[in-house]
Amino acid sequence: MSDVMIVGAGPAGLAFARGLAGAGLSVAVIERQPRAALADPPDDGREIALTHRSVATLRALDAWRRIDPAVVAPLRVARVLDGASRFALAFEPGPGAQDRLGQLVANHHLRRALFAAADGQAGLTLHTGAGVAAVERDADGIAVTLADGRRVRARLLVAADARFSATRAALGIAARETRLDRTMLLVRATHDRDHGQVATEWFDYHQTVALLPLAGRCTSVVLTVRPGDAGRIAALDPAALSAELTRRTGGKLGMMRPVGAVHAYPLATVWSTHFAAPHAALIGDAAVGMHPVTAHGFNLGLRSAAALAGLVRHAAARGGDIASPRLLRRYEAGHRLAAGPLFAATAGIVRLYTDAGPVARIARPTLLRVAAGLSPLRAGVAHLLMRH
Ligand SMILES: Cc1cc2nc3c(=O)[nH]c(=O)nc-3n(C[C@H](O)[C@H](O)[C@H](O)COP(=O)(O)OP(=O)(O)OC[C@H]3O[C@@H](n4cnc5c(N)ncnc54)[C@H](O)[C@@H]3O)c2cc1C
Repeated sequence: MSDVMIVGAGPAGLAFARGLAGAGLSVAVIERQPRAALADPPDDGREIALTHRSVATLRALDAWRRIDPAVVAPLRVARVLDGASRFALAFEPGPGAQDRLGQLVANHHLRRALFAAADGQAGLTLHTGAGVAAVERDADGIAVTLADGRRVRARLLVAADARFSATRAALGIAARETRLDRTMLLVRATHDRDHGQVATEWFDYHQTVALLPLAGRCTSVVLTVRPGDAGRIAALDPAALSAELTRRTGGKLGMMRPVGAVHAYPLATVWSTHFAAPHAALIGDAAVGMHPVTAHGFNLGLRSAAALAGLVRHAAARGGDIASPRLLRRYEAGHRLAAGPLFAATAGIVRLYTDAGPVARIARPTLLRVAAGLSPLRAGVAHLLMRH
């Protein structure tokens, strides 16, 4: 029997595993992908906007130094425009803060670094190549059976198996899932104009566009469109795609020349009704599946992993119960407080901007102006976005 078992070796599961290094606990990590895919994950098109807090956590987990600085792009300013209106709400680092809002790093670089940091850790066993098929609870722990028949038992199970977590369902924890009838397309493109390390996001009536500035004259173009449009755009040949991206980005950066594949993500958000159950906890997207529009899922997932690892380490150091109901309740309460406002604010933004009705259309520019005029509000929003 292990002390801890983690289901899912994504960023949240790996960060939690590494966060237990040196705590003297035996940790089993279960991942349905093969080991090679964890050691060298393929590019999934995602660029993660890391907050300063997340970078500090990655440093503490010994993962940050494993990322080549050449693939880290500073995010100096973020601007939000409203459709055809030129009005911009700008988020900049506050006085005395650092020279940037955060850093952009591709998800596959982050996954690789976290795996390298956790791999070979004393007390850690990896079970790869088969997912969890069944979960059973007994008096002093939880046992899981993998799809290939292997069995793993532990005192504490931590589910980090993504937003449609099968482990969460097997634990009997319900979740509110919202399918959004929108698909997010990600494609990198080079261009002639300088982006100045400024991220720009705007909301037209049938699309949302985000331009994320990468190193050099390269940008990650993020289009949120209806599923039918997404299928059509993803099937375009390179010349037609270039013309489509240039048109959809309003020529802001000049002609857009796509580099590499188009990645498509049907959008859905998930809020779990509980983040803990007897002998079990949820972290990362398994707890809260954020809409990517405010770019916070990874940051929030890292935060949940660090919070739970801190509580478990503390209990282990005192010789206490690492799966006590009190500890799990404390984790759940803290993470609900951290995630709730961000989840609600993001859902509000999504509703306002995907609603093409007249009230929403009138409200949008007004709300942006009000937000811009109230500097404490703007500072509050920036703080909310940056601290996670
Ligand atoms: C298009 C897009 C852009 C994004 N951009 C940002 C951003 O800019 N900033 C930000 O903070 N976040 C962003 N996010 C969110 C971020 O990518 C996720 O929040 C983050 O990857 C979640 O990490 P995780 O470890 O919880 O889950 P995942 O990364 O989904 O990992 C889950 C792991 O569990 C494994 N697994 C699943 N089921 C089982 C099973 N039954 N048994 C065993 N293993 C299993 C999977 O194979 C996987 O390895 C974005 C998301 C999307 C879709």
